[in-house]
Amino acid sequence: MRRICVFCGSSFGDKPDYAASAEAMGRLIAQSGLGLVYGGGNVGLMGVVADAALKAGGEVIGVIPEAMMKWEVGHLDLTELRVVASMHERKATMAELADGFIALAGGIGTMEELFEVWTWGQLGLHAKPLGFLDVGGFYSHLHAFLDHMTGEGFLKPRHRDMVMVESDPVALLTRMRGYAPPATIQVIDRLTT
Ligand code: AMP
Repeated sequence: MRRICVFCGSSFGDKPDYAASAEAMGRLIAQSGLGLVYGGGNVGLMGVVADAALKAGGEVIGVIPEAMMKWEVGHLDLTELRVVASMHERKATMAELADGFIALAGGIGTMEELFEVWTWGQLGLHAKPLGFLDVGGFYSHLHAFLDHMTGEGFLKPRHRDMVMVESDPVALLTRMRGYAPPATIQVIDRLTT
């Protein structure tokens, strides 16, 4: 793995633990010699993870739609800030630049981004690891629902198992490094879909 993409809240959340874990994750990514790819904002947990990785001497690439730059939420001190035309281009660019994806605590934007790359993985469009950093049980209800989805026959166990959940950044990154995609997945050429 060379770069990790982090999806996380554009808010801080109500507990200091969320920002503390975003800081720990950003620092760890940089200290592990990995680059950080993220949404390019300087707001909420997004700004925290980027600043922590920069402070630890890491490469940080932000990918932000032009419309968001106009709201002046772009982080201007990154290694590289790519300004793209649309949200779709942003997600495709982040997915291409990164070799793995982590969701920290966040809102619907974070969910949408992680679920999209998970869906791409389910289809075999990529074979990159996916993980949730679960701080204080923030994601416990979501994962109970995903188990329910699996039990009801809508999510295959092998696809459910593609996503790793850990509360400790080191444990999560270690598991992601050892990830092996489901054997049945065929990597489909994106151009053919
Ligand atoms: P949310 O979890 O709803 O706060 O959305 C956060 C995710 O959506 C991030 O990973 C970003 O890619 C994107 N996003 C949402 N709001 C912003 C913002 N103000 N600036 C930059 N990106 C944002």
